[in-house]
Amino acid sequence: MLNQATHLQLTPGLFRGPVATTDESRAFDREFRQYYVERALPVTRVALALLFVFYFVVGALDAALMPLAFVENAMPVRIFAMVIPPAAALGGTFLFRKRPWLPYLIAAVVFVVGLSAVLVGVIATRTGAEMEFWAVTYTTFNAYLVLGLTLRQSAVVGWLIFFAYLAVGIAQGAPLAALTYGGLVLGFANLAGTYVSYLLERNARQIFDNKRELIRLARTDDLTGLFNRRTFDEHLRKVWKQARRDKTRIAVIVADIDHFKLYNDCYGHQKGDECIKDVADVLANSVDRPLDLVARYGGEEFVIVLYDPTESFLESFVRSLCKKVVDLDIDHKAAEDVATLTLSIGAAITDASGSVTGEQLIRQADDALYEAKSQGRNQAIVYKTEWGQQTTANLAAVLL
Ligand code: GH3
Ligand code: MG
Ligand code: MG
Repeated sequence: MLNQATHLQLTPGLFRGPVATTDESRAFDREFRQYYVERALPVTRVALALLFVFYFVVGALDAALMPLAFVENAMPVRIFAMVIPPAAALGGTFLFRKRPWLPYLIAAVVFVVGLSAVLVGVIATRTGAEMEFWAVTYTTFNAYLVLGLTLRQSAVVGWLIFFAYLAVGIAQGAPLAALTYGGLVLGFANLAGTYVSYLLERNARQIFDNKRELIRLARTDDLTGLFNRRTFDEHLRKVWKQARRDKTRIAVIVADIDHFKLYNDCYGHQKGDECIKDVADVLANSVDRPLDLVARYGGEEFVIVLYDPTESFLESFVRSLCKKVVDLDIDHKAAEDVATLTLSIGAAITDASGSVTGEQLIRQADDALYEAKSQGRNQAIVYKTEWGQQTTANLAAVLL
């Protein structure tokens, strides 16, 4: 888990693809695509069902109204390339709902249907039947507006169908006037479709970005970028369950800056804020395992959860945190004993499948912190459940 959430934005990536090439931004982009498909899914299903019904009715009308020579040639195309594919895609939306390739399947289906509409027009010309290329426009409309395709997917499908229409018309020696008017209608339908598809995707990206930003704001602390107390509490509950299942240990560490009131009084609140940020960075950079988490618990107090640490790791870890803060070498001449900013730490470790609860573990870490403060600050004390409170292990102060 990242300890300092970064603010990624998808909206600018509309034309450029994923905003950056980091794993995180790629995952973010994938998440958006899934969201876009899911959001459109009810409309997509109705549109695919309508496309199916439309070509089914058209096929029936062909059989009733069109000359036999046309029907014999066009019917296989109608059935296999225009009626069955939308039905199959509709089934696909239920079967492959979570698959990232579902939109590509839908795009391919619309492309096949559109191309077939062009082909049926050719069959009509060849068999001397009267038929306009109107169905191509209806299919194109689907690609852009109602099938939940992204701008890129729909524009590729729509414009490919348009160029296929022109190419086939020219190759067939279609009358210039018919081809020009037809091309104009289809071309403008594509222009409008591309624009609306762009607006749809841009709006969706903005909504997605805003939603993510709201979640980020609710989960993080403004000053330090660390997670906040609420996120910590949620995370602890989650990993506690996991640790019970895995029969592993969990450690909670509470860290508090020493004599911070004096620091503020001496150097001002603004400088105090900078200190809090520096200490937050030290803690955030010290923790990088996926189930571990650092949070600002409030004021100048931080809290860390470690998943399955050994006791010796925990001891050396908390000691190293004290040392790293000393190494920041932040002047604190108002402190009684040392002239540098220091940190006191209380930690508690337990077997998650034992009788101790998460709240109790935090309290034990707090007791250990209290002990560290009263024993002179700038030190870490680990509270071990099985030893009891009286025998907390004092991990020697970091001497200056
Ligand atoms: P101890 O060593 O016992 O922890 O003493 P302390 O002075 O650090 O603890 P105390 O709880 O008495 O004071 C904490 C101070 O932290 C008081 C408050 O003004 C300051 N503080 C809390 N939040 C912030 C903040 O966001 N920015 C700044 N600059 N100061 C803060
Ligand atoms: Mg303090
Ligand atoms: Mg405090």
